[in-house]
Parts: sequence; C-alpha cells; structure tokens
Amino acid sequence: MSYQALYRVWRPQLFSDVAGQEAITQTLKNALIQSKTSHAYLFTGPRGTGKTSAAKIFSKAINCPNRVDGEPCNECEICQSITQGKLNDVIEIDAASNNGVEEIRDIREKANYAPTSAEYKVYIIDEVHMLSTGAFNALLKTLEEPPANVIFILATTEPHKIPLTIISRTQRFDFKRIPIHSIIKRMEYILGQEEIQYEEESLPVIARAAEGGMRDALSILDQTISFSQERVSVADAMRITGSLTQELLLDYFQAMIDNDTKEGLAILQSLLAEGKDPLRFVEDVILFSRDILIYQQTSGKEELLKQAKIDEKFKKITEKLTSTVVYEIIHTFNQTQQELKASNHAEIYLEVATVRLTEQVASVTEQRVISTDPVAQTENNDEISNLKVQLNEMHQLIKKLQTAHSGQAVPEKKKKSKKISAGSIFKPNKTAIFQVLDHATKKNLAELREVWPDLMNMLTVTQRAVLKASTPVAASPKGLVVSFQYDILCQKATEDTELNKDIALHLQKLVGYEARLNSVTEEQWPVIRKEYIRQLKQHDSEDTNENAEKSEQSPQEKEKDAGDELVTEAIQLFGQEIVKVKESSV
Ligand SMILES: [Zn+2]
Repeated sequence: MSYQALYRVWRPQLFSDVAGQEAITQTLKNALIQSKTSHAYLFTGPRGTGKTSAAKIFSKAINCPNRVDGEPCNECEICQSITQGKLNDVIEIDAASNNGVEEIRDIREKANYAPTSAEYKVYIIDEVHMLSTGAFNALLKTLEEPPANVIFILATTEPHKIPLTIISRTQRFDFKRIPIHSIIKRMEYILGQEEIQYEEESLPVIARAAEGGMRDALSILDQTISFSQERVSVADAMRITGSLTQELLLDYFQAMIDNDTKEGLAILQSLLAEGKDPLRFVEDVILFSRDILIYQQTSGKEELLKQAKIDEKFKKITEKLTSTVVYEIIHTFNQTQQELKASNHAEIYLEVATVRLTEQVASVTEQRVISTDPVAQTENNDEISNLKVQLNEMHQLIKKLQTAHSGQAVPEKKKKSKKISAGSIFKPNKTAIFQVLDHATKKNLAELREVWPDLMNMLTVTQRAVLKASTPVAASPKGLVVSFQYDILCQKATEDTELNKDIALHLQKLVGYEARLNSVTEEQWPVIRKEYIRQLKQHDSEDTNENAEKSEQSPQEKEKDAGDELVTEAIQLFGQEIVKVKESSV
C-alpha cells in the first residue's frame, strides 16, 4: 500500500501525544509510576478521541523496561513489537467482528496462561458494546476472577450498552471531544514535521468540521493536502469540509433582511447543487448568527468570534439585524437541525426555514418603517400572504412525502420508519453481483473493510452522506458488493456515476485495484447470496440434489440440511464472521 493516511503515520506513541485528554493520560501515568494499575479499564467517548491510542500506549508503558515517568520508550523490542501489533501478549480484539461467546471463552482460557515475552498480558477489546449477552457473561466471569498479570482495556463509543455488572468491575475513563485549539495545535505540529505550507485560518475550519475527533481532523487535513496545489488554503479547507464562505452567508442574511424569498431560495439552491452538506449549512448559519450576537453585544471584539471575520459587509448586516431577529434565526435553524437529522428531505426543510425567515425577519425589521408608509404596507401585506400560501404548500408537500416514505404499515407508530418497504424501489444488478461473487475472497473483503473508513474520508461530504449507512459484504479484485440500510441511498449510490468513478479511483490508491461498486439493500443481500449459492450448487452437483430428493428425510429436515450446507458454503465464500452475524437470515 503506497498511501499512508496521516492519522496512521501520526498515531500518538506517547501519552503526551494524545491531544485534549490530559486529565486521563496524567491519571494513567500516575498509576503506572505508583504501580497502582487496575486489572480492567473502560475507555468511553466519541470516535477519534484517542481511546485505542491510549490503550496501546498503556500496554507499552506497562511492559516497557525503560519506562520514564509513565511513558514508554518506544525503542525497545517490546515497545516496537507492540507498535507493529506483533507482540503476542498484547491482543487487540474488534468486538464488532468477534462478537461470539466462543471468542470470549477463548480469551478466558488463554488469559490463564502467563504472558510469554512481556510482563503483562493486555487485552484491548474495541467496540466492546457489540458483544452478545452470552459473551458479556463470559467476560464478566473473567473480570470477577482476574488472572494475575492480565489487564483488560475495554473501549466503546456507546457505554450505555454495557451491562452495569461489567462497568462496576472496571476503572472508567470518559474521553471528551477534543477541544478545537488542541486539534489545531496537533495539526500545526504535524504540518511542521511534514514541512507542508498552510494558511493559518484553514486549520480552525478543519478542526471545527472534525467535531472533536482527531482521526476525522487528520483525514480532512489529508484530503485538503492532496487537493491543494502548494499550500493548504482556507478556500480548499472550506471546499473539502463543505463550509460556507462568509460572502455567501452574508448574502443569505441580506436576503432575509431584504424580505427577498426568491434570492434566499436561490442561494440555498445553488449551495445544495454544489454539494454542500445541508447539516453543515445549518451549523454554519447558527454559528454565524452567534457571532453576530457576540459582535453586537461586545461592540466588536473580533477574537471572540468563532467564524465571522469583521469586514464592511459584516458590519452593515449586524447593524440592520436586531437581536430578536437573530434569536429567531437561531431558533428556526435549531429546529431545522433536528428535523434534518430525522429525515431524508433536507432540501424541503431548509426551504421552509428560508421562507419562514425571509418572512419574519422582514416583518420585524420593517414594522417600524412601515407604519408611516401606507403603500409599502399594502405591498408588504400582499407579499406576506403570498409567502403564507407558499409555506402552507410546503407543509402539505412534507406531509405527503412523509406518508409516502413511512411505509403504510405503521403510520401512527413513531418507529422512525426510515426504511422504504423492501425491494419495492431498488433493483440490484444481479448479474454484476454474481460476477463479483464468482471471484470473491475473504481476504479481499477483510482488506476492503480495513480501508473502508479511509475511503469514506477521501470522499466529499455529500458522497460520504450517501454511503453513511452502508457496509461492504463481498469483494473481489474487480468489484465489491455493498449493502445499504436505506433503499433511497442504495439507489443514489447506483446512479451517481461521479461517486462510482471516485470510489474506483480511491480504491486503486488504497488497495491497489479498481473495484467497481455494486449496491444492494440490507434486505436484498441475504436473498441474493442464497440464490447465488443455490445456483452454484446446482452447477456443481446435480447428483447430490437428486439424491437428497430421493432420501426419506422430512421436508423440514431437508430444509435444515440444505440450510447447513448453505452456511458452510457461504462461510467458504464470504468468511466466517459475516455469515455468523447474519446466520438467522441464511
Ligand atoms: Zn520500551
């Protein structure tokens, strides 16, 4: 693999490298210095906040013979083999793929053997919340009678899914979102080391978009670097993160002040057409409104502003907007933000917000002027009633869309029915998928899953949104099959030729071959897989089938046998873990 992502190259190797978690790393260091380590830790927090990095550093520090002040030396044989993931005594387990009871039982047995080359055996179980109840019970037994010299580090983004019995037996550390200034500091350091030029103001843009995750920040930085010609620029950072330029935001606010619904909607349309992420747009507007308020109330202290830069246009707009109006904007967009998160129809909600605000801002700012101008008042009233009609139409449209997509089966249940009824819309390309399956290997799939997060980070914000709820389920050097949670996104991914081209290009970089994307919905995948295996069996052994038919098994037994064979066959094709996870559907 020629491509090495920044976050891989710059993965922290010392506690002092872990950004923004000083309280945690200091506590761990103190425990090491005073030899008061626990036999089980629970690291919780959002993704990319340093949980697994800290776990690995800890496993080095506790075993390193040259430890200084709780930090590993990173040079001795033990440190280096842990860094490379080669030390048998430090075992990393991804519970998302090894969620079986068997694996944990396996740990219980092996944990009882003393470590071979290091002093402590360390089990790092990532995404531990994915373990099954059975596996948790097995783990609990181990934690109740911890073997000597064995340490468990459980990491999770979702601590509420972990049984209390487990939590109470661990020492818990909550990793916080990394503050923007810490992310910026780390990026400055890395860019300095890599000798890459950058515009200072580009870093806050990237740090903000990363939402407290270092891994995300470095991935965006990576993208911006490969996008930029010579130096990382603010414009590139904005483009990559989908942030809005101040110019456009000010135009949008101006449209609200001018009561210009048409202009407001036009700006919105062009932004969405350019592929701006609707949620990012909403965040940008809220942040910008906050800056306007701060500016108004602190009589122009630029250092307090998070996003806005003070220029003539900005000053003019802040003079025209009253704080009541700004609060109204924030309120409306907060609401829109909630609506967007629960819906696929971002555009409509944003249009409604735009119409509502161009109406309200105008009515509040102009009320004072209008009362003395009867002509303007009539015009204004006409316009308002027009807008009200428009608004009403949009509400109707939303209602219609919601009923259309909620699946008529459960209309009143608030079961967040984001899925469209199975198979009704999307038609997968079975021929192409079968061709992939003809050459699919477990190795290809494992490789693909490994680079999947990297691929996500190489795509644009909009492209990523399409692939958000998708998982690779089969792969060959020529193609891959990806299953989608939502039919609508499955359809989108199939139709978007640009996206398909980009995926092939990026995969070339990441795994060295151009695999074509084949989409399938979550419901369709098990069906297609089964069909493929059936077909394969028919080709392979017509005789066996005949014999089976002549045997005296009951229909259920036959079905069961066939099922077992299918499972075996599927395991050979797609790998144990995938089949296991989906066992019930085969
Ligand atoms: Zn060492």
